[in-house]
Amino acid sequence: MTTTTPTVTPLSPAKTPPPPPTPKPSTLQNPTSIQHIQQLHAVAIKSNLQTNLPFLTKLITHLTSTPTPSSLSYAHQMFDTIPDPPILLFNTLSRGYSRSQTPSIAFSLFAEMINSNITPDNYTFPSLLKACASAKTLDVGKQAHAFAMKLGLADNGFVRPTLINMYGECGELTEARVLFERGDVECVVSYNAMIMACCVRGSRPSEALALFRELQGKGMRPTDVTMLSVLSACALLGAIELGKWIHDYVKKNGFGSYVKVNTALIDMYAKCGSLEDAIDVFHSMGTKDTQAWSAMIVAYAIHGHGSIAISMFDKMLHDGIKPDGITFLGVLYACSHSGMVDKGLDYFHSMKKTHNIVPGIKHYGCIVDLLARAGRLDEAFEFIDRLPIKPTPILWRTLLSACGARGNIDLGKLVFDRITELDDSHGGDYVILSNMCASVGRLDDVNKIRKLMSERGVVKVPGVSSIELNNTVHEFFSGDGKHPRSREVHKMVDEVVEQLKIVGYAPDTSKVFHVGMDEEGKEISLRYHSEKLAIAFGLMSSAPGATIRIVKNLRVCGDCHSMAKMVSMVYGRRIVLRDLNRFHHFEGGVCSCGDYW
Ligand code: ZN
Ligand code: ZN
Repeated sequence: MTTTTPTVTPLSPAKTPPPPPTPKPSTLQNPTSIQHIQQLHAVAIKSNLQTNLPFLTKLITHLTSTPTPSSLSYAHQMFDTIPDPPILLFNTLSRGYSRSQTPSIAFSLFAEMINSNITPDNYTFPSLLKACASAKTLDVGKQAHAFAMKLGLADNGFVRPTLINMYGECGELTEARVLFERGDVECVVSYNAMIMACCVRGSRPSEALALFRELQGKGMRPTDVTMLSVLSACALLGAIELGKWIHDYVKKNGFGSYVKVNTALIDMYAKCGSLEDAIDVFHSMGTKDTQAWSAMIVAYAIHGHGSIAISMFDKMLHDGIKPDGITFLGVLYACSHSGMVDKGLDYFHSMKKTHNIVPGIKHYGCIVDLLARAGRLDEAFEFIDRLPIKPTPILWRTLLSACGARGNIDLGKLVFDRITELDDSHGGDYVILSNMCASVGRLDDVNKIRKLMSERGVVKVPGVSSIELNNTVHEFFSGDGKHPRSREVHKMVDEVVEQLKIVGYAPDTSKVFHVGMDEEGKEISLRYHSEKLAIAFGLMSSAPGATIRIVKNLRVCGDCHSMAKMVSMVYGRRIVLRDLNRFHHFEGGVCSCGDYW
């Protein structure tokens, strides 16, 4: 287990003591700030109350209830002065750490507890497991699980949901499922944990929704946590109809005043492509905290309204709401997608200087994107090279896509090498480089890349697009015949393509990956891309004029993009397509991304 020593702020020694007033119980009810608690503690020391356990317990409980680095270190310092801390205090402090930026300190506390011969109870494991979940340390989580089993606590009503949650957060969905199914079928907390587990990293959102239906079918009452998880599943799937139904449910069942639920609604609507609904929810909220403002800023940003996102940010600051890391993600994203390069760089530098927020890998990613979009590729390369932390493959990948879009093969190759030094298993990287080479006719290079892929056992991630109709999510894989109405859908694609050819659509086969395929073969492989199947299915299965909303797991290809533009014009449909990177709103023959994505 990891041991980290928390930083300890020394207590200021008390000088020239006035007659010490005893802390009145009333002043203890609501100690508001850490300074207030420090004062109370100082008074306690003067009054010889520093060893009074109930008093210290109360202070520690308050300090850990909304943990910050300083409140936790102060609490830990108090804790260390207690000769034989009881289990209650271990649990309280551990719970504080499990909800902090330094969850692994909970592990050393647990070790300390065992060394003091204290037997963990059913309150010990939930916080320990929560710490494992947030630190994503499966090995420690498994040890904790084994320990809980030995003590006969693994099936406890408090422990099991946190075990499910830990396995889910650590990506062990099968183990989570086994525990879930072994448990009490009427436990809403277990359901919440399992639903959340299915949403982690977007792995199984449809299973999450099925679980929610199951929970309802049993007549159980969902909680606000259930609402948050289900909304996150809807957002992942782009399932707006179901999301709307949940919104109604939220209003009817008294969750409408929960700031977090409303924030999740904003996020869901934004990710499902309905900015209008996101705005409505935001305006209907009485209290708006940092998260709510951030969600709205991100919503504007991802829908291409950069300048509105920025003015929202200004308004937020004006109203005295403190921005956080997520707020800046929205702001930087907005700048990058609206071409505000220098403004974006200014905001980036202000994060640390003005707002005391340390940029994370995602912020760096925004800056790389910002520079790359503006065509400043060399600058982006240097930026990554000089980062204070080790760059992730994703960061380089952002630049690689930009090199692809700009046709900068030389830099692209350099970037590709950097990526494969870190991770050589990502099929998408090979495809981008190979497409770049193919588009300028360097077929030798294309062959080399293909060979490299097969030597390394790299496989292309299949494209999958989903579309929601009448509360059912339909998934289409490229060229696949698994959907029950597959034949009709393929026929519809053929019809649409013929229609579009009349108005000038020409399939762009220049970037088709398959080597040695003739033009006709290339055209056919392009024709049944997953997003084309989904669009065709949308056209044949929804009312004329209805908006078609599609979610794709990869970046949309150039040919599907121009096809969607033409469909929006010829068939008079709005198409909202969310791909790996952004939203595309197709209407009247044009796309909101301005053909750069
Ligand atoms: Zn395509
Ligand atoms: Zn677009």
